[in-house]
Amino acid sequence: MSVITGTTKLLGVIGYPVEHSLSPVMHNAAIGVAHTKANLGLDYVYVPLPVKPEDLEVAIAGFAAIGVVGFSVTIPHKQAIMPLLTEISPIAQSVGAVNTVWRTSSGWSGTNTDVEGFVAPLREKNRDWSQTVAVILGNGGAARAVVAGCTQLGCAQVRVVGRNQEKLNQFLNSWVNSPLPIKLSVHNWEELPSLISQADLLVNTTPIGMYPHVDKSPVDEAVMAKMPMGAIAYDLIYTPNPTQFLRAAQAQGASAIDGLEMLVQQGAAALQIWLQQPVPVDIMRQSLRQHLGLST
Ligand code: NAP
Repeated sequence: MSVITGTTKLLGVIGYPVEHSLSPVMHNAAIGVAHTKANLGLDYVYVPLPVKPEDLEVAIAGFAAIGVVGFSVTIPHKQAIMPLLTEISPIAQSVGAVNTVWRTSSGWSGTNTDVEGFVAPLREKNRDWSQTVAVILGNGGAARAVVAGCTQLGCAQVRVVGRNQEKLNQFLNSWVNSPLPIKLSVHNWEELPSLISQADLLVNTTPIGMYPHVDKSPVDEAVMAKMPMGAIAYDLIYTPNPTQFLRAAQAQGASAIDGLEMLVQQGAAALQIWLQQPVPVDIMRQSLRQHLGLST
């Protein structure tokens, strides 16, 4: 842990509740490591900041008054913060949510690093995505970052599966004016067996299978068996690790990506914005794995 002095600069995460956030673990690990290297001058600390929805505006004004450098934004503030910012990146506007905010001379700027976090482990695969059909389970907040990420990769088609037709229609309509070249369709769960048989990339953005419901999966094993060989299964959930969904996909020969990497990469992208220098991603990953009791 870095030594906090009178010159230490403040970073944090706002949410409500926020006590379960893993972000302080990885950010302080990265800052602490950087701190031990001579002359980097990373005199920062990252703290959880519980902010009730009704206190958001006054909290942000207070952060400006005390010179907070930047902060992460989590539930329930990812949309509500937007009118309080002077600048919002195009990607955050497309997603309709901000998860990273930093102070500028004219006020607060915001972006969404969940898209970058989602895409990072996929880019490592170094493949051509132009023929890829992506099937996304769920149509909530995280699914929006996933749709934007699949579009950034250049996927041929993005098919979103949900259980509520009205929400699905709203989801589809919300992208109509997006500057992103999105090739999106929406589907109900009954269509999943036929969708899965064409899915090169299958992403779970629902909370099904999250601790403590570790035996649950959003997809039955019989349906999972329809996954094409060589497909990628990606679960945004990071506990358990791996999820039942990823285990079943791997048993079918799919390659698996877990939500921990997205969490690490979105955090690394945010820390890089605040510090304006490269950050130790390995340390961030290692600290989270250690914290969660996973092998490092
Ligand atoms: P959200 O906005 O509440 O969306 C959840 C979606 O899942 C909704 O579309 C919901 O459908 C659907 N769903 C929930 N229970 C379902 C069920 N039993 N059957 C079918 N569909 C169901 O939540 P979110 O913010 O998108 O987060 C979703 C998951 O992603 C969480 O597990 C979260 O921890 C994870 N996440 C991970 C990262 C990361 O960095 N790894 C980042 C963000 C989120 P309805 O709309 O019909 O209710």
